[in-house]
Amino acid sequence: FDFIEREQIDRACFYHLVYSGRGGQIAGDDLSREETRQALDIILERTEDFHRRGLNKEILTVDNHVDGIYLYMKLLAKDPARAEKVLRLLTWNGGGMYSSGVGIADIDFLGNVHADQFWMHHSFGSVRERPFSEIWTDTADPLMAGLKNRRAKIKGRCAPGICKWFDACGGAMRVRADLVYSDPWAPEPACYLTDEEIGFTPEKQKLVRARGEDFPMPEFSRPPRTAPPRISDIPPSISCTGGTEA
Ligand code: SF4
Repeated sequence: FDFIEREQIDRACFYHLVYSGRGGQIAGDDLSREETRQALDIILERTEDFHRRGLNKEILTVDNHVDGIYLYMKLLAKDPARAEKVLRLLTWNGGGMYSSGVGIADIDFLGNVHADQFWMHHSFGSVRERPFSEIWTDTADPLMAGLKNRRAKIKGRCAPGICKWFDACGGAMRVRADLVYSDPWAPEPACYLTDEEIGFTPEKQKLVRARGEDFPMPEFSRPPRTAPPRISDIPPSISCTGGTEA
């Protein structure tokens, strides 16, 4: 964020790791759930700091719809009325529900159509053989049918009626579930919310087990790191806010 400010960058995106392509080679290096939360805390704090100081920057987080729910939960503690508006917008948007395979497509350099740029391992057909409009609406492919109707397919702790945030998160990135569990309808392995935060009660856990949808959440086993400093921990002399005129 110091760099963004110093170089007067107007827009920055922070990406969660998706384990396809080269990302697959570093999947074991993904952040732990706690590290992801710490990173999000820093992004939220520093973005708010820009806003407070009138610096007009667009800061985005990308490839994990859980961020919207995390932002909502943080905001709820500070400004419940605004948080409710945020949740309304997230629910209207649906998170991952209307993204890959619905509102997002990828056509590669050979003309093959994929659900998004991370789904290179699955093609729905080629625009050299059929018009895109036909390929995109052909639900004979089970993946296309499922992506168009995630609500009926998503399992385990992500399933509607199990996760209380399903309508606003939509089960996030289906490609990560496919790459980790070889099942595109398995739970999002990079969800960093606790069972308690998503309302995954012991009763619901029992129900999920009875359905045979008890997928073990992967644990990233990097050695724990010291938490990076929060903006409030940085002494004023070196704070990015320190040299700015009020
Ligand atoms: S459990 Fe699934 S649907 Fe719920 S917040 Fe996490 S990723 Fe989203």
